[in-house]
Amino acid sequence: MKTLQLPSGREIPILGQGTWRMGEKASQKQAEVNALRLGIELGLTLIDTAEMYGDGGAEKVVAEAIAKQRTEVYLVSKFYPHNASYQGLIAACDRSLARLKTDYLDLYLLHWRGSVPLSETLLGLQHLKEVGKILDYGVSNFDTDDLKEAESLPGGKEIVANQVLYNLLHRGLEWDLLPWCKQHQLPIMAYSPVEQRAFVNDSKLKNIAAQHNATATQIALSWLLHQDNVISIPKATNPVHVRENRAALDIQLTETELQELDFAFKPPTHKISLAMR
Ligand code: NAP
Repeated sequence: MKTLQLPSGREIPILGQGTWRMGEKASQKQAEVNALRLGIELGLTLIDTAEMYGDGGAEKVVAEAIAKQRTEVYLVSKFYPHNASYQGLIAACDRSLARLKTDYLDLYLLHWRGSVPLSETLLGLQHLKEVGKILDYGVSNFDTDDLKEAESLPGGKEIVANQVLYNLLHRGLEWDLLPWCKQHQLPIMAYSPVEQRAFVNDSKLKNIAAQHNATATQIALSWLLHQDNVISIPKATNPVHVRENRAALDIQLTETELQELDFAFKPPTHKISLAMR
């Protein structure tokens, strides 16, 4: 699997697996565990989860999927903004580690900004790093001004990634956030990379897909995989989707096709506030 180097020097795979909506229904659990295991087997070893997903249920699904292969996996979890105080964050991390049945996270992210001062959250994250419960930390849903503010605080320069909504239909961040992150060698983790199925019947994507014996969704994912400094974390429970997402890595789009995609899904021409869901 191709990797990006984080500012800490550690490597992170450029394609992984999301887990939002997993761990919500007991009847789906085995299928979700199987999907994640299949993904890992195919090389999708980055797994993104959060204490929020399924109210901790997704982390339990992940625990089962990664049991006996923890060291093969790059594990990311996220904490709620209301748990972002120094003590709150340490307690939230312990709960996530217990649900995930592991003693460390590769990356721990603030899910979105809340009312706890960033300076306090950064102190908590530094502590978690010092005691080895997390290897790296980062943020999610941060726009350029948030990152600039964070960078100016103690521990802010140790932020290694920003997880944000990014796909062909949400390109606003290309105006200033993406360039800022590139300049600071801070990878972007693109969430909802296949826009929660919205590309399935897109005729322009289907036209390009026909040239690659692929699906429209694979072309949308492939486009993201062609972007510099970007990691993608599609969520899939259907094994066909897991295989398709892995195969999107092997699609090579031509310059003409990339231009056609720019024409169909226009890049921004002015600052647009960061979209989130
Ligand atoms: P997504 O990955 O864009 O879409 C997931 C949906 O697309 C599922 O219904 C899945 O179906 C389907 N799908 C996946 N691969 C497909 C394929 N090759 N062809 C057709 N359909 C396909 O949306 P997401 O779950 O919102 O985002 C991905 C991950 O990002 C999340 O799971 C989560 O880990 C993270 N996330 C983070 C934030 C944040 O605020 N930081 C917000 C949203 C998401 P099946 O499941 O049936 O296979």
